[in-house]
Amino acid sequence: MKTPNTLSDDALVRSGRLCPYCKSGTRIMDSALVYNGQSWGWVVTCAKWPSCDSYVGCHPRSQRPLGRLADKELRAAKSMAHEALDRLWKPSGRRAKEWVQTRRREAYKWLAGALGVRERHCHVGMFDVDMCRKVVEVCCEKLSEMRTAADRPVFASDGHVISEVFA
Ligand SMILES: [Zn+2]
Repeated sequence: MKTPNTLSDDALVRSGRLCPYCKSGTRIMDSALVYNGQSWGWVVTCAKWPSCDSYVGCHPRSQRPLGRLADKELRAAKSMAHEALDRLWKPSGRRAKEWVQTRRREAYKWLAGALGVRERHCHVGMFDVDMCRKVVEVCCEKLSEMRTAADRPVFASDGHVISEVFA
């Protein structure tokens, strides 16, 4: 059988069909298996789990993986990246769904530019450890920039300053 080339391997890894660590295939499992008996839907694990500790969650109510499989180090890096990014766009109080979606979209658009990646590939779930660290770095820079400029309203209640914030 022909060995898949690097490019298609990358695509398989990104779509959660190939374990990036041991190059095994993957399996769809109930998340109760990896989350101490608590089921939050489906997860995709390495076919060699648990000896290869690599998995990723799925989109809500689907068997579509959120991104590439992650080992313990990457899972920690991803959660830090999400936390840093959330601080840029998540409202402190309740907002209309549309407002939240718009601001989230703007934040990801800005992030893609800051990282130099295509918007459609700009998902923390698709990043490796180095990219996750870079996310934390650029988000922290942006956050301090926003704080320095805090004498003007950064977060207007109607969301109209979004494009200014992420310009
Ligand atoms: Zn594996």
